[in-house]
Amino acid sequence: MSGSHSRAHASNGKVAPAAFPPPVDSRKEFVKRGLDPEDELIEVGVVIVGGGTAGLSCANRLLQLLADDPETMERLGEVPVAVVEKAKTCGGHNLSGAVMRPGPLQELFPEMTREEWRKEGFAFGEVTKEAVYMTPTAKTKLRIPPPPPFRNHGNEVVSVSAMARFQQRLAEEAGAYILTETAATQVIVEDGRVVGVRSGDKGRGKDGEPLSNFEPGTDIKARATVLAEGCWGHLTGAAIKEFDLAEGREPQVWELGVKEVWKVPRPLDRLIHTIGPWPLKISSRYGQIGGTWIYPMKDEKTGDDLVSIGFVVDLEYADATTSAHDLLQQFKLHPLVKGILQGGERVAWGAKALPGGGYWSMPKLSMPGAVLVGDAGGMVDTVALKGVHHCVTSGKLAAESIYAALVRGESSFESYEQAIEDSQVGKELYEVRNTRQPFQKGFLMGGPMVNLMIASKGHFPGGRWAWHRNDAKPMFIGKTKDGYPKPDGKYTFDKLSSVFITGNATRDDAPNHIRVRKHVPREIAETWRWMCPAGVYEIPEDAPAEGEVDVIVNYTNCVQCGAITAKGGRLTTPEGGDGPLYQIT
Ligand SMILES: Cc1cc2nc3c(=O)[nH]c(=O)nc-3n(C[C@H](O)[C@H](O)[C@H](O)COP(=O)(O)OP(=O)(O)OC[C@H]3O[C@@H](n4cnc5c(N)ncnc54)[C@H](O)[C@@H]3O)c2cc1C
Ligand code: SF4
Repeated sequence: MSGSHSRAHASNGKVAPAAFPPPVDSRKEFVKRGLDPEDELIEVGVVIVGGGTAGLSCANRLLQLLADDPETMERLGEVPVAVVEKAKTCGGHNLSGAVMRPGPLQELFPEMTREEWRKEGFAFGEVTKEAVYMTPTAKTKLRIPPPPPFRNHGNEVVSVSAMARFQQRLAEEAGAYILTETAATQVIVEDGRVVGVRSGDKGRGKDGEPLSNFEPGTDIKARATVLAEGCWGHLTGAAIKEFDLAEGREPQVWELGVKEVWKVPRPLDRLIHTIGPWPLKISSRYGQIGGTWIYPMKDEKTGDDLVSIGFVVDLEYADATTSAHDLLQQFKLHPLVKGILQGGERVAWGAKALPGGGYWSMPKLSMPGAVLVGDAGGMVDTVALKGVHHCVTSGKLAAESIYAALVRGESSFESYEQAIEDSQVGKELYEVRNTRQPFQKGFLMGGPMVNLMIASKGHFPGGRWAWHRNDAKPMFIGKTKDGYPKPDGKYTFDKLSSVFITGNATRDDAPNHIRVRKHVPREIAETWRWMCPAGVYEIPEDAPAEGEVDVIVNYTNCVQCGAITAKGGRLTTPEGGDGPLYQIT
């Protein structure tokens, strides 16, 4: 047995991804010190990085305020509001369940009715009936009264991808300049203050060499910068480090969701959640916590009956063979699900991570010259799986704070932090601030404690419980994989045919945007291989059964879900326009 062989054998269950950090220095690489000369840059009023729910809510609210104040609009120059979005079009990289609390969106666009949302094609009906099940085994189910976080009566089923396209149109009509297919690759800091962002180069080859169509990036100078990058933001992470925004907070932790949309022969009349334990392992050694959703979607435009189905798993798990994609395929074999999907057809697939730490993991939300909104600020209640309405509110409140500061000629946006704390976002997230930690004790002990916390509106148990980063969890090669079905290509699917239907358009000769160590213990390599919903990581067939192995990175498959950053690697900004083109996720 070779030295590394025996070392790794002893390591099964002991080696954590954090011991193999990716080769990245985010402050050095993603923070640019100082702006280019005036004649080489673009100047805008407010730059928003990320054209998702939070970023576009911010853009639309700003433009509403500026429409009533032509003087300030004028002062902001030719481009008062710019949105930088790396997908081909807004919505292209957005994915959610999603059942949304409607209030904040109604407040943002008070003249629109929910019927009009549906006619626009981003909303799919009000929840009138719901059911929550435990799934003790692959064949059985037990209906339980919906625990408070799962009560969705009156909420609206939406597609955040379609909603982003709708919000993009409104923002453009109101005068926003939306730069799609553009990644912001650096946040620009001058004299201790964020003064804008730099857009990424385009047209580089595999090794970074400029190709014939090469276009260099540009500095975008702004009076205010809004980081609305969603979870695992490239610039957000760098800004958090640069300005110490996470000081005194718990580390952020993550979950990964894989979703499919099905066209079904019979309309589903209710919203369904299942809370396991099947197909996850109940033993706390596996560290697996997760759940599923099945949401009815009536497409008013086409008349189609659609269903959104997804599996979310907490990235705190310890079994390297945990795969959200395969767990979803396995879940679809349960009679509860087969009765809904069978005879139907899969029309969309996608994957995305979400921040799970909640209140205690939220970084400080402002820094000189910039703010964090939506998932970039960690505003998700993961027990209820609700973030969309918080993204709308945070975008709106950021716009109001920035507008007020610009009118006064000030450059501090700190009032936004208090506005969040005093809003429903702060209140709701505070109430559920301790709900994720009990699950670390396993499903059986954790579940009842969480119910008690929710019933007591967060009073029990008080205080703050500490936790660790997901990449600090030692991994072992367990048996979760044994339950995954062999894909039949009709009802259950493999990862590559799933990526194919996302319209993923990454060029084959694009530079690699995934940073991982390429030679790691098998436990770590297996973790990446199974976790990645897009099949990016491969272990060579002739690699040793134990010990360190090579990792092959097929980065052009990446759907930019962000999970790798939680488990020992780093997703960095790809070239603008690369990645999936989600339509209805
Ligand atoms: C699987 C899953 C299920 C969920 N279910 C629900 C649900 O049912 N109900 C609910 O309320 N919430 C749900 N959530 C949470 C909710 O979806 C999120 O809170 C919300 O969509 C996040 O919106 P956002 O605008 O902050 O980020 P995003 O939607 O991620 O948008 C960020 C945008 O920024 C762009 N971007 C990022 N970095 C850059 C860069 N450097 N340059 C240019 N562009 C960049 C991205 O391409 C993206 O378009 C779910 C989340 C997931 C992942
Ligand atoms: S390689 Fe891309 S798709 Fe795969 S886990 Fe990483 S970010 Fe997600």
